Amino acid sequence: MSRGGSGLRERVCQSNLALVASGLVTETFGNVSGVDRAAGLFVIKPSGVPYEALTPANLVAVSLETGRVLDGDLRPSSDTATHLELYRAFPCGGIAHSHSAYATAFAQARRAVPCLGTTHADYFRGDVPVTRPLTREEVEQEYERHTGLVIVETFRTLRLSAEDVPGALVAHHGPFTWGVDPMAAVERARVLEYLALVACLTYHLDAHAPGPAAYLVDKHFRRKHGKDAYYGQPNGGA
Ligand SMILES: [Zn+2]
Repeated sequence: MSRGGSGLRERVCQSNLALVASGLVTETFGNVSGVDRAAGLFVIKPSGVPYEALTPANLVAVSLETGRVLDGDLRPSSDTATHLELYRAFPCGGIAHSHSAYATAFAQARRAVPCLGTTHADYFRGDVPVTRPLTREEVEQEYERHTGLVIVETFRTLRLSAEDVPGALVAHHGPFTWGVDPMAAVERARVLEYLALVACLTYHLDAHAPGPAAYLVDKHFRRKHGKDAYYGQPNGGA
């Protein structure tokens, strides 16, 4: 009897395939998970299983409390402990991770993806931050767990809301994004890659291009998110 209802397993499977279809995955770099907080578990891609062999049944259910595998013969993704720490800290329903080229380039340069325009502000209320590098001890002991913890630390240090800025770059590694469900996390992974690409082009034209005023960023973010959102309604604009 598999844990993690069939609905969640189906959504996580579809989201992993959507990540691949988005062109964000090279080789097997990447994974998507989804959480069922009432059941106290999340479901994640198994480690080393090719995407074409992925099925709802071979996903792995992991306890939110203990981090242990709840069922199945397969080992969960090696990034499972990172997802666990993000679920513990942030009120999200799904997490996506990839090594998509432009977002990873910013991570390797240890630069935040800067908010340079309204497309960015529609999804992220400000820069998408980059973490500090992990210490030797953090890498040598519980590396994947510390990868999650350093993202959480970055949000605390910068006083960022995980709902306002649903993504981060791990220094020298790559992007993690999250959302209300696994597919929303994948959508943000796709958008973040586009934003990183466009930021590169913008800086190519003007290495000192300034970002938009805070009032324009807030306007764009608020019309799509929160209680006063109106984007997509008959009286709203595109
Ligand atoms: Zn990775």
